[in-house]
Amino acid sequence: MPESTVEKREFKSELKQILNIITHSLYSHKEIFLRELLSNASDAIDKIRFNSLQNEALVGADRDWKIQITPDAAVGTLTVSDNGVGMTREAIIEHLGTIARSGTREFLENLQQTEAATRPELIGQFGVGFYSSFMVADQVSVVSRAAGETQAVRWTSDGLGEFTVEPAERAGRGTDVTLHLKEEEKEFLQEWRLRSVVKQFSDFIEHPIVMEVEKKGEKDGKTLAEEVLNSRKALWLRSKGDVTPEEHNAFYRQVSGDFEDPAKVIHYAAEGTLEFKALLYLPKHKSFDLQFGEAKVGPRLYINRVQIMDHCEQVLPPYLRFVKGVVDCPDLPLNVSRELLQHNPLLEKIQKSVVKNIFQAMEEFRTADYDGYLALFGELGGILKEGLGRDWGNREAIANLLLFESLNTERGKFITLAQYLEAMRGDQADIYFMTGEDRGTLEHSPALEAFRRRGWDVLLLTDPIDGFVFPSLNDFKGKPLKPADRNAPSLPAEDQKKVEAAAESFKALLPALKDRLPQVKEVRLSSRLTDSAACLVPDEGGLDPHTERLLQKLRKSEEGESPRILELNPEHPAVQGLLKIHSADPSDPRIEDHARLLYAQALLAEGSKLPDPSDVIRRINQLLVKDA
Ligand code: ADP
Repeated sequence: MPESTVEKREFKSELKQILNIITHSLYSHKEIFLRELLSNASDAIDKIRFNSLQNEALVGADRDWKIQITPDAAVGTLTVSDNGVGMTREAIIEHLGTIARSGTREFLENLQQTEAATRPELIGQFGVGFYSSFMVADQVSVVSRAAGETQAVRWTSDGLGEFTVEPAERAGRGTDVTLHLKEEEKEFLQEWRLRSVVKQFSDFIEHPIVMEVEKKGEKDGKTLAEEVLNSRKALWLRSKGDVTPEEHNAFYRQVSGDFEDPAKVIHYAAEGTLEFKALLYLPKHKSFDLQFGEAKVGPRLYINRVQIMDHCEQVLPPYLRFVKGVVDCPDLPLNVSRELLQHNPLLEKIQKSVVKNIFQAMEEFRTADYDGYLALFGELGGILKEGLGRDWGNREAIANLLLFESLNTERGKFITLAQYLEAMRGDQADIYFMTGEDRGTLEHSPALEAFRRRGWDVLLLTDPIDGFVFPSLNDFKGKPLKPADRNAPSLPAEDQKKVEAAAESFKALLPALKDRLPQVKEVRLSSRLTDSAACLVPDEGGLDPHTERLLQKLRKSEEGESPRILELNPEHPAVQGLLKIHSADPSDPRIEDHARLLYAQALLAEGSKLPDPSDVIRRINQLLVKDA
């Protein structure tokens, strides 16, 4: 193809959907398009500045890092220019037409369904990047010249389905993004409007954002002069007491994209062998980028005020991905590639310190503002818990931060593991937990009757992730953690005797029941039931039924559950009745009815679904008819 032709391309189909939603259903906080463009420009400058440290020649003399905003009222355009790294023809096609950030479409579809009133926060948190330009423009053109190239490229689109690329001219390296504003969005040509949007969303961007503004001249009226619109403050370099809450709030909103204030500020300077500054924030809620697709993990990384990475994954483990902010470490080398930098052992040390400080801050938060912490935990506890399974070294510290409902606490109240330990009875050696769908089902679970009887507390875990991560927490402060449904305490001695005495009379019945219930592994007498007639217990090493159901759902598999053991309460009248029927006539057809109904009630009691409800209903009705 000759170089000079205009090439027409189609957006990738997923992007078309995204663009369609952006242009047709996002109506509020349209001004964030500017935040997205300024942040792209700033990233582009960071990239070239970083490259310049290894390759002087690539960068040349143009190092007056600057982002320029140019409104042109005569033609109705707004242009954002930078002297950053620029894009080649291939890069522009890839970045502005082919790939979409994963999770974006799911996010936007969800956004469409939520009430319009709540949208601004959502879109603010997620950021739809460059494409948000189409909220305010009916045509966008990008002219870019990559570092080291002489030829520039022009990309143009109306955001409907296609874009064009063609060769273009540009005086130097960098990118101009020009928006042809829609008629009703012309306010974005006005100086005051642009000033206020920059102040609100991009004030802390490190590079100067400049605009030509009118100044009153001495003699001849008005002249144009360039003015820097952003304050470019590096709050993290100041000492802790010198940053006001307002500054924190504004800075947090800009690094996180959140529209709310942070729940807690973590600001400290590490001193000694490794020196760095950290300014981190715990959010009040689970932002949408945490709920959809991949959230970018890690704070911004600076080396002496120079931003190196937008998200440094090496500084935070994924289970702390809700923590936002900045880490600035002058000890890191500036003159190596990003690749190499990411393997620098100092980052691991920074992570250790940062994680420790976050844990500490969370604990302080819990003590100082319990309700605030409870709300935070409700939003983010599920993410934090992932750490139990992933960060072996810190699992006790993570466990220490968790809040639990338990058998002995009122509904809606929570305890910590430390409180559980404190309240443990003298005759209790282990910590018990049970996973299930909700508190109600768990509370009534037959497996917990023996615990209630002895007054031992059981942690009630109802978060879907619990069943997966909790078993990795083998112990806490030296006390083993055990699933309650497999480790019921034995009954008091006198009750124990009763069970033993009953064993002889049930000798023939138990195998007869097993024959009629091929779905269970064994039928045996229970020493854990006081009120219920029957319960199901997992076989040694088997999963609890709740987690097994979740797994099946995740795998979308139909594979059956692992066979379990049916335990009967020998004292219960229903079980006694069955014993009587069997002693009178071991081939009585009612034995099968009763066996199945006992099995069915054990399933219902633990919150499982009946595999054959109509069969159960038929058998119940038979009994009802007989009683009439
Ligand atoms: P994000 O910034 O979240 O990656 P965008 O849709 O805003 O998503 O941008 C997509 C990509 O296009 C960027 O990652 C970058 O590679 C490229 N890009 C956008 N704007 C610029 C710019 N001004 N200079 C250089 N590259 C840019």
